[in-house]
Amino acid sequence: MKPEELAAVVRFHGHFCPGLAIGVRAAELALREIDPHAADEEVIAIVETDMCGVDAIQFMTGCTFGKGNLIHLDYGKNAFTFIRRSDGKALRLVMREQPQDESNNEHRELAERIRSGEAGPKERARFQELFRQRGQAILDLPLEQLFDVQTVTPNIPAKARVRESIQCESCGEMVMETRLRLMGGRKLCIPCFEAGDRRL
Ligand SMILES: [Zn+2]
Ligand SMILES: [Zn+2]
Repeated sequence: MKPEELAAVVRFHGHFCPGLAIGVRAAELALREIDPHAADEEVIAIVETDMCGVDAIQFMTGCTFGKGNLIHLDYGKNAFTFIRRSDGKALRLVMREQPQDESNNEHRELAERIRSGEAGPKERARFQELFRQRGQAILDLPLEQLFDVQTVTPNIPAKARVRESIQCESCGEMVMETRLRLMGGRKLCIPCFEAGDRRL
């Protein structure tokens, strides 16, 4: 990856971190094996985490939350599935457990001291340096060592449709029809529905 490409991803996310590096590598693999940018939902990404790396995936692959071709499953796993609509090719990348070394312990101890407010400027600088090194190590690792790559047959989600909006009968705000809930014959938005639930 070219330095200016990485710089653009870092700018989008706000900082460089190991999590972002994981997403960069997942996106790299997806672009190599599945396809380049998704102009119109032709590639779908399913991410099983909502950590930093998802920003790299959105930025690099064009699978974005707003386009509807980024699906989040709240499983808390560093696992990323990429699906190509045209032929159904789908890969699930699962991050392999990475060997721990001495710097992991040092990093953990420094993090603890920073949290408790005991760390001085030198320790903070060292912490930042280890953090950066961990990210760099992920960028330098061969992709095959970083991810276990599975070929999967996913249920391909239907393309996003434009839905009608209907007024919530409690707050009066417009709501996508598929998100309305029925309570005592009234059509309510989810927050009003849940507020009603609490009153019962
Ligand atoms: Zn981050
Ligand atoms: Zn409402």
